[in-house]
Amino acid sequence: MFAVILFTRYTQLSRDTLKISYRQADVTYRRVIRFWCILAAIFFTPLFLWEDVLAQVSLDRISVAARSDGKGYVIRLHLNTAPARFSVVQPETNLLQFTFDGVTVGYSDLVPKPVSPIKDIFIADSPDGTGIDFQLNDGEYYLARTYLDANRRHVLIALTRASANEVKAIADKTDLIRRGNQPVNNITEVVDTALTPDPEDTFDRLFNQRQTLKFEVIVIDPGHGGKDPGSIGTRGTKEKDVALQVAKRIGAYINEFLPELKVVYTRDDDRFVDLDERGRIGNRAQGDLFISIHANSVRSRNAYGTEVWILGMHRTQEAFEVMKRENSVIRFEDKDETAMELSQEQLMIYELANSGNMASSVYFAELLDRQFTQRAGRRSRGVKQAGFQVLYHASMPAVLVELGFISNPNEERFITSDYGQSILASAIFRAVRDYKEQIERSQQERDTSR
Ligand SMILES: [Zn+2]
Repeated sequence: MFAVILFTRYTQLSRDTLKISYRQADVTYRRVIRFWCILAAIFFTPLFLWEDVLAQVSLDRISVAARSDGKGYVIRLHLNTAPARFSVVQPETNLLQFTFDGVTVGYSDLVPKPVSPIKDIFIADSPDGTGIDFQLNDGEYYLARTYLDANRRHVLIALTRASANEVKAIADKTDLIRRGNQPVNNITEVVDTALTPDPEDTFDRLFNQRQTLKFEVIVIDPGHGGKDPGSIGTRGTKEKDVALQVAKRIGAYINEFLPELKVVYTRDDDRFVDLDERGRIGNRAQGDLFISIHANSVRSRNAYGTEVWILGMHRTQEAFEVMKRENSVIRFEDKDETAMELSQEQLMIYELANSGNMASSVYFAELLDRQFTQRAGRRSRGVKQAGFQVLYHASMPAVLVELGFISNPNEERFITSDYGQSILASAIFRAVRDYKEQIERSQQERDTSR
């Protein structure tokens, strides 16, 4: 369009310039400029149009995985960018209609790898954009909800098993979306593999999926504080004190040996900070890793060893006890006790939306666990998952560390000693250093592969 306008203007102007006798040199000069303008327009106009194509939301792939809580499935729609609008409706008990304002590309790649619980997928145009209809297996009933993944690109449809009546009640109230008469594509080629997680949802991919692969700010969160002493040891040791002492040692090591890494404390003296405020402090500082420092205590004097916790749903009864104790801070926060435990729903959404952060949390937790056992010579009680409030509010990879049991007289002595604290703090420091090196390696690989 631009080129055509320029061309018309050019011919009119050149006729005028012929009538009025300009100096010949001036005319030639103007012609040269016009020539280049036209040439530029011809070359750049398609580029602008191509930009439009690139900016369009497009769906590359669909994958399905069983949910880690065993309550259903997650359909992941791999989009290049977040759609402005998307919705899912369920007009029949076995039909989900997903619509988004974008296009699908490479239909042959849209084959969902694990087939269950989807029987068939139809893609068709609809007035509101592209429609994807999921035909579900007969006799299986799910409620569907959509979420935007934390990477802000993929749309997740969480399927939660429900009773036939529940699903039917919803379907009866929902109108069928009339798609275009002819489906754009009908996927018949469904690969029949065992139901395993999407092979692409591996650590490497999730780790690299984080949009900003940076490690510039570390948030150190000494547990408890002020009116909340945390656990009390056999000799009266307060958890809040050892947590702060070890936290400050970690910070000192980082300042000395990794000065480019900024250290932010959620508290650096004996004061009370709400659990969700701790996460917010980290978020405001744009933290890249959140480490919450605690010490364990149980009735038995025999239990000992370190534990590294991440937020997640795979929990045992023992995990539940630790989580209850660490979340119990809320009783100091003038809040309803029912706010103490994260609901399964909250955890599920967290897992769905934070797969990238979770993969990084698991990775760091394993580095730390290795340091505790191999370098610090501690007994590891493992990397575990539970619904910790303090980790839930931090929008970054996050772990909670239990340094050991102050209810065990030997371990209490170790944790309160100068020697013990420097060993524990340097183990955590070394894990941070290894994590930083891994991020830098991933960053380099990402840069060179571009
Ligand atoms: Zn604690």
